[in-house]
Amino acid sequence: MSQSVIDRIKQRTPGETEFHQAVDEVYLNVKEVLDRNPQYVKHNIFDRIAEPERVIMFRVPWMDDQGNINVNRGYRVQMNSAIGPYKGGLRFHPSVNLSILKFLAFEQIFKNALTGLPMGGGKGGSDFDPKGKSDAEVMRFTQSFMQELAKHIGHRTDVPAGDIGVGGREIGYLFGMYKKIKNEFVGILTGKGQGWGGSLIRPEATGWGLIYFAMYMLEKQNETLAGKRCIVSGSGNVAQFAIEKIIQNDGIAVTASDSSGFIYDPDGITREKLEFIMDLKNNRRGRIHEYAEKYSNATFTPADREAGHNALWDIEADLALPCATQNEINAADAKNLVKNGIKLVAEGANMPTTPEAIEVLMENGVNYAPGKASNAGGVATSGLEMVQNFGGVYWTAEEVDKKLQNIMKGIHDNCLATAEKYGKKGDYMAGANIAGFIKVADAMIAEGIL
Ligand code: NDP
Repeated sequence: MSQSVIDRIKQRTPGETEFHQAVDEVYLNVKEVLDRNPQYVKHNIFDRIAEPERVIMFRVPWMDDQGNINVNRGYRVQMNSAIGPYKGGLRFHPSVNLSILKFLAFEQIFKNALTGLPMGGGKGGSDFDPKGKSDAEVMRFTQSFMQELAKHIGHRTDVPAGDIGVGGREIGYLFGMYKKIKNEFVGILTGKGQGWGGSLIRPEATGWGLIYFAMYMLEKQNETLAGKRCIVSGSGNVAQFAIEKIIQNDGIAVTASDSSGFIYDPDGITREKLEFIMDLKNNRRGRIHEYAEKYSNATFTPADREAGHNALWDIEADLALPCATQNEINAADAKNLVKNGIKLVAEGANMPTTPEAIEVLMENGVNYAPGKASNAGGVATSGLEMVQNFGGVYWTAEEVDKKLQNIMKGIHDNCLATAEKYGKKGDYMAGANIAGFIKVADAMIAEGIL
């Protein structure tokens, strides 16, 4: 097996830069596994795993409040079903394209495998921008989106969830439309509301799971979160509940951001201040600078896309937790993190750290956890929601939280044990990529050439 596998994949997917980035990262780590295990080469597993089983692209027409007819593009990438039904979120964001969804679906294969639950990899969404849209517009768009998506999903086939721009409101409209089309009340989406099939702790799960993972990493270094300063990016679902869990464990979260910039609160975001952020973002759909207007000790720094680095990552802290989007920490940011003595970087977002930045962190001995391990708590709890839906049971918040903690601990320990086995002691990225790959590759071999 040579570099030509990667060349071949890139040649067949021109211009899909984010997808190439994700494939490169996994290949870098599993090359050693392929060299040691000829059956994976014989079965051409890497080529096959990088090719989606199915990609669905469709037109989504919808009418805005002024009566104009708009068209967006909808997608569902059904990447791999070797170990279970396709599972992965829907993203509504103007930047969405096939490359971004394929990178996310590819990452999702390994992440889902790591949870230990039977879930394959998928991802979908649209280039629709929910920002600035009325509730009625969002509803009309999501209903139109589901009119097509409903033909391709099912509770034993493909179970989407939320992601950027798709929260409780959107899941509600999507679920309602599916139910109307199929005349069937089944768990075809996760992240549903409590009272209509949702699991307790699902909204919290990604952010809480991230902090559990970071705490297991700290424990390994004989450290705790108490008193540690954390720089967090984003102010959406993942960031909000990461900050909540930091507060609960006596850490100090000092930043939050959105695409317009970031706030820095040197005294730390308290429970009351977090409630302000949650209301601002979830109910009023406002911008993060309002935090600095309300709390005079905090400052707001507008985003400067020309600067070549993000000043958020130049704030002195112990932990960095990127929870916004892909490629938000570049090499210059990583150098700033190292310069400021950051101890740990754990990803809440998917692929927020560029390959060059990962290299800087690793060369400088920063403890780094990739999103496919550290943010897997969200999809894991989605898996628990599916189990509850199948069984017609509801678990208490304590039960779900306990299971979430056990899953995050399992992923943490599996990453370390696998990394050590392959001569990469302490390398969470290698451990995550290798452990996830082996599980799915073995299932693909067992199931034949499909
Ligand atoms: P939300 O839509 O709730 O929040 C996203 C946050 O990131 C917002 O603050 C948003 O700011 C900011 N953001 C999004 N795009 C950009 C951008 N291009 N530049 C700067 N800021 C940006 O999404 P989630 O919190 O659910 O998702 C955040 C990340 O976590 C994503 O990478 C997602 O894939 C990942 N993730 C989410 C899971 C989940 O369960 N929700 C599970 C696992 C991973 P603004 O409002 O201005 O756009």
